[in-house]
Amino acid sequence: MTNKYGIPSDELLRIRARDKNCVYCHKEMIFPFIPKKHKDCATIEHLNFDGPFYWDEDLQIEDVVICCGSCNSSRGAKKLSEWFRTKYCIARNINENTVADPVKEYLTRKREKC
Ligand SMILES: [Zn+2]
Repeated sequence: MTNKYGIPSDELLRIRARDKNCVYCHKEMIFPFIPKKHKDCATIEHLNFDGPFYWDEDLQIEDVVICCGSCNSSRGAKKLSEWFRTKYCIARNINENTVADPVKEYLTRKREKC
């Protein structure tokens, strides 16, 4: 996993310690990144679908999680609520009740803002 978003390495370690399995499908992830096995590798995931994406643009540790390559590419730039309705999530039972705590907390915060 490269730190292409400018996240300080100590913050990244905190995120990695918190998100040991994929925050969505809970699979164990490979780290560091192996291109041939990218679907099972740990990738940085932005919960905010519309940013900020970079640390110097006020990205917060609470809005960054670690998920596997499959979930990351499946979600793409969809809103979480939209992604949860896709075949990928339905087949894997990924929804707002099954995701890891950092994602639940994010969804709760977002709802409060609305
Ligand atoms: Zn996953």
